[in-house]
Amino acid sequence: LMSCRVLESCIGCDMCVLECPNDAITEKDGVYTINEDLCTECVGFYKSPQCMRVCAVKAIARNPERPETHDELLEKARRIHSVLQK
Ligand code: SF4
Repeated sequence: LMSCRVLESCIGCDMCVLECPNDAITEKDGVYTINEDLCTECVGFYKSPQCMRVCAVKAIARNPERPETHDELLEKARRIHSVLQK
């Protein structure tokens, strides 16, 4: 498991921004970026990364440079959403 990142093939459809439970995806001048400190691979909310699921051109991939365990991602989700229970 690891956080996700947006690839060059992104067409800027904006779908992923709406899906992210952590508001981890932002757009500036047409370039979409995933904040790795906010991306939990949707752990805590969904079984799989929703941005990858909704991307029509498969422009989002897991970032091999940011490996994280399930527990680390869940802990990150709890930090972001204090309402998530232990
Ligand atoms: Fe957001 Fe989930 Fe995509 Fe991470 S995998 S950027 S948490 S939608």
